[in-house]
Amino acid sequence: MSIVIVGSVAFDTIETPQERVERAIGGSATYSSMIASLFCPVKLVGVVGEDFRAEHRAVLEAKGIDLEGLETVEGGKTFFWEGRYGADPNERDTLVTELNVFETFKPVLPESWRGSGFLFLGNIDPDLQIDVLDQMKEGTVSGCDTMNFWIEGKPESLRRLLSKVDILFVNDGEARQISGESNLLHAGKAILEMGPSVVVIKKGEHGAMLMTGDMKFITPAFPLESVMDPTGAGDTFAGGFMACLAAAGKVDSESLKRAMVYGTVSASFTCEQFSVERLKNLSSDDIKKRFNELMAMVRVDDEAQD
Ligand code: AMP
Repeated sequence: MSIVIVGSVAFDTIETPQERVERAIGGSATYSSMIASLFCPVKLVGVVGEDFRAEHRAVLEAKGIDLEGLETVEGGKTFFWEGRYGADPNERDTLVTELNVFETFKPVLPESWRGSGFLFLGNIDPDLQIDVLDQMKEGTVSGCDTMNFWIEGKPESLRRLLSKVDILFVNDGEARQISGESNLLHAGKAILEMGPSVVVIKKGEHGAMLMTGDMKFITPAFPLESVMDPTGAGDTFAGGFMACLAAAGKVDSESLKRAMVYGTVSASFTCEQFSVERLKNLSSDDIKKRFNELMAMVRVDDEAQD
């Protein structure tokens, strides 16, 4: 099956203790579409300004992503975000968020995209996420991401989105913020009561936890010796996870567990280089190989029980 992905397509300025990169390609839809394209056909819904030129589009086109739903606003400016990381890659400060062309964006999905079966609502205004979700056919499996900017800025819209979506991706801080619970199991349960049937809580280098009404599943993060730039790790996790489900064409406990491992592995690649650099030449074989490496690090037989 194919997947429709909506979210930000952006220019990012990123500062880490080692380096500063100005106006690199970023955005939630960019990261999630680029990784998803290695699992299944991807259709991207978003908006950019005139400053997003042919060479920038080419980065997405090279991955075979269908850009019929990527609108260009004449005279408009592309979404811009600036963030700074300290010594701990799990901690970052957002310095600038300029919505620009997203302020007036009204997404209209091509008719033939509405029955795609799977939808990922990357981090963007929850009203836009609802708008896209409502255009998809009934029975679509939907996942969504969000962040503190929207949790604080549009709490009611976010609640409405949660009552409609199947799978929510959040990091630990966001899970606590949405639920008001400090224990993550309590936070996960409280979020499930708000609507989603699956919640995935990401904990950066400490891995991720999935919860449904009757199942819990945890994965460690793939250990990396050097984290160059964690920007987009969450988007890549969710993009890989959702596209893995779309490729399987089903959502049962085994496919959810596999998606957790593929999401984990996908995110690890993004951190290895700035912006989307590592995703440009990434192959399905690279992902599969790392999946096996991670599995080899956690698999154990209990001889005492044989
Ligand atoms: P992540 O590191 O997975 O949280 O994603 C970072 C990406 O999200 C960057 O490339 C930004 O362009 C994008 N981003 C940051 N803030 C927002 C926002 N408020 N809405 C939509 N996208 C955002």
